[in-house]
Amino acid sequence: KAFVELRDVGKSYGNITALRGVSVTVRQAEVTCVLGDNGAGKSTLIKIISGLHRHDTGEYLVDGAPVSFGSPREALDRGIATVYQDLAVVPLMPVWRNFFLGSEPTRGWGPVRRLDVEGMRRTTDSELRKLGIELPDVDQPIGSLSGGQRQCVAIARAIHFGARVLILDEPTAAPGVKQSGVVLKYVAAARDAGLGVVFITHNPHHAFLVGDHFVVLRQGEVELNAPRAELTLDQ
Ligand code: ADP
Ligand code: ADP
Repeated sequence: KAFVELRDVGKSYGNITALRGVSVTVRQAEVTCVLGDNGAGKSTLIKIISGLHRHDTGEYLVDGAPVSFGSPREALDRGIATVYQDLAVVPLMPVWRNFFLGSEPTRGWGPVRRLDVEGMRRTTDSELRKLGIELPDVDQPIGSLSGGQRQCVAIARAIHFGARVLILDEPTAAPGVKQSGVVLKYVAAARDAGLGVVFITHNPHHAFLVGDHFVVLRQGEVELNAPRAELTLDQ
């Protein structure tokens, strides 16, 4: 099912056209890979989807209704979560504390749960296990995890707090990621949990390992927009 849809979207920075006539659909339970060289418009595309920038022309629909988000907060309230490369985590705090960081009522993201420490530890552990992430101990400082593991914790956290679409910006190229396979495994797990995943990468091999749908941008335009089946038929 289509959850996020851009129709004929355009975006310029002054006299630089970053996107022109871009139509892209993100479906739930699918990994949509966005590929393209530097300057192709990948960042601009995800900034629009995540609410950091507004589109100039065309339409942006979420769950069938037109939107124009003024901030990432507004996008998040509609279930669109961006998992940033540089995770805003406090390295010395335990994994479980980072998992719940920013979920306080005043910040109001997702279902607010007033849990005791033991409850938060247990919830963190069980949410991570649902994605297949096995940590020996949720009390260890999050800084002691690998970059890949930290990213996976961030994915589990977004899902727990109600994300329906995850935007992953070059997750396999994030600092501290030694084994891209670890990250790809959790990208697939998020998809299998029913989320729509937007996977930005300039590594076609990584895209092909997990992608269900492929969008290639070139100089701000869509060069290719195809489901996996269409690409594999050409082999
Ligand atoms: P990518 O993420 O694929 O490298 P971008 O979306 O960052 O592509 O960039 C698309 C085009 O828009 C490029 O020509 C880039 O130089 C330009 N651009 C991006 N952000 C800005 C900005 N804030 N101001 C001016 N030009 C920008
Ligand atoms: P924003 O445009 O919302 O400030 P960006 O991350 O796109 O966020 O840009 C950060 C800053 O860097 C901005 O001041 C922007 O003008 C500048 N910038 C980014 N990319 C480019 C570019 N390709 N050409 C010129 N300026 C850029």
